[in-house]
Amino acid sequence: MALERTLILVKPDAVQRRLTGEILSRLERKGLKIVGLKMLRITPELSRQHYAEHVERPFYPDLEQFITSGPVVALCAEGPGAIAVCRTLMGATNGREAAPGTIRGDYGQSRSMNLIHGSDGPEAAARELPLYFRDEELFDFDKLIEPVLYEAA
Ligand code: GDP
Ligand code: MG
Repeated sequence: MALERTLILVKPDAVQRRLTGEILSRLERKGLKIVGLKMLRITPELSRQHYAEHVERPFYPDLEQFITSGPVVALCAEGPGAIAVCRTLMGATNGREAAPGTIRGDYGQSRSMNLIHGSDGPEAAARELPLYFRDEELFDFDKLIEPVLYEAA
């Protein structure tokens, strides 16, 4: 399983609801490695870049209003198959449909204010991570526990 890096955003609703620690904790307990972390306020310009695939959708103005409404916590999570692992931990987009045990399923009931963003594939991760992190803001460290977390590639 290839080692991957993925962009995670703790969205403004989750920051507002003091769920940042809970969400980071779930990622860490799963065994994902946080290799970059920052708080920032997304600008309308960054929103349009981040959500380029959605800019023409009817809901985009509401999405931009929401994602720029307050600070987010951006992080880069690393691990084997980390992109799909994070999508599984997140659950379905609509919190009312997301399975119990997932972040969206356990904490949300909204389709738009759904607590967390995770890159949806390798191309998205490669495109999104540089929007938030310079190379020197992402770290290589701590290989020691990996033999007890997952098999070698
Ligand atoms: P994701 O990959 O599961 O985050 O979902 P999408 O890529 O389909 O949508 C991106 C984000 O746009 C979602 O996480 C929601 O925050 C938001 N969103 C999706 N659908 C809607 C919608 O119909 N209305 C609004 N207001 N926001 C939406
Ligand atoms: Mg998506």
